[in-house]
Amino acid sequence: MTTPQDGDFRDGMPFLGSRLWIDFANSAPVALGDFLATPEGWARWLAAAGLKAGGGPKGAAGADLAEVHALRAALSRLFDALQTGSRPAASDLDLVNQYLAAGATPPRLSWRDGGLRVEQQEAGDMDPLAAIATDFADFAAQHESARLRHCANPECSLIFYDTARNGTRRWCSMSACGNRHKVRSHRMRAAKLECS
Ligand SMILES: [Zn+2]
Repeated sequence: MTTPQDGDFRDGMPFLGSRLWIDFANSAPVALGDFLATPEGWARWLAAAGLKAGGGPKGAAGADLAEVHALRAALSRLFDALQTGSRPAASDLDLVNQYLAAGATPPRLSWRDGGLRVEQQEAGDMDPLAAIATDFADFAAQHESARLRHCANPECSLIFYDTARNGTRRWCSMSACGNRHKVRSHRMRAAKLECS
């Protein structure tokens, strides 16, 4: 399926965190509201994220929104813990661990093309919350804390992982907060010139 894409946004929702689990944490921006407030919103977000709505034991239809929101809140707190290098709450780790356990399927051996093949489950085939928890676990094992950032716009709640080589990304998105900042500082410079 195709989703309308506008750089850092898919179907009007931010996908600019550079990681699936961060995009999930970003699904309720202060300025735009909670995209996962309804089952329809959750299904829309899953489609934009490329996750299988019906994947895994629960699927989108069966997913309890309270569970979706609880994992999202835990991951937002874990973002802050990773960023500051502080010890995460045991309850947040427990919750992620539950989804890791639920998503874990052993590799499967099969005979194909005259040889034994190992089949691993793809993220897209997993229960979506398990896929998100797995992405967080992979990330937590190797990341640079200094590259975890909040958007430099104090009115913006979005977070991201800076993957730029020089590590100087300040904005969630140039098309959103970056440009607003550029326009504002241009206006301030222009106003100063008028005063002098
Ligand atoms: Zn921003």
